[in-house]
Amino acid sequence: MPQQKSSRRTFLQNTAKAGLATGLGISVIPALASVSGNSMSLNNDHFTSFDQAPLPYAYNALEVAIDAMTMEIHYSKHAATYAKNLKEAAQAEGVNTANPLEDVLQNISKYSPKMRNNGGGHYNHELFWKLLTPNSSGQPNGKLKTAIEKSFNSFDAFKTQFAEAAKTRFGSGWAWLYVDGSKQLKIGSTPNQDNPLMNVSDIKGIPVAGLDVWEHAYYLKYQNKRPDYIENWWKVLNWEAAGKLYEAALK
Ligand code: MN
Repeated sequence: MPQQKSSRRTFLQNTAKAGLATGLGISVIPALASVSGNSMSLNNDHFTSFDQAPLPYAYNALEVAIDAMTMEIHYSKHAATYAKNLKEAAQAEGVNTANPLEDVLQNISKYSPKMRNNGGGHYNHELFWKLLTPNSSGQPNGKLKTAIEKSFNSFDAFKTQFAEAAKTRFGSGWAWLYVDGSKQLKIGSTPNQDNPLMNVSDIKGIPVAGLDVWEHAYYLKYQNKRPDYIENWWKVLNWEAAGKLYEAALK
């Protein structure tokens, strides 16, 4: 089982938690390499638990874009089931759930389809909730704003390109803004519950923002009108959270 890669980070995290990190130097933490997995190095800013985090807002807080019933069913049924099934797979396949889920995703080819579907499903939704807010700034700020304008010419051009990726993902999947292995911002999409962290993904990198385009994410309010859902999603996108993910991915 691919536990080796995570052991150093876990050691450092535990050491830091114990207050013993003095002298180790923060610079050693990001230097994690993977031989067979997605080799993008992650650091302590990327640690997704195998448990669902509480939603940081009420189910009805995002009504401008996503209705309360969709949020409730999505979080408490769909996403909760991914978390439950992920833990079953982790137990069956000897994964230590105290380690970051990211370590499993980066080596997902070594695990079962159940781990791939539910590990991806859990990670993607945990990220999705974190990237929503009732108080969106409406546009990126700081380094992410600069990088988006440089990479896609303008914020509007970026939005058009991202929406296109989300609209054209056939069937179920996700659209992504992510940082690739050359630290460049990229737009892409993945099928099902795959994501750019996975070593089996066509697009590889560290997610900065992700949009769920499964029908369960929008059908009650939007039915077949996925483009309207995408257009309204911008109103509740947490750019502050995306900015933090972007800066963490550059470390
Ligand atoms: Mn979903």
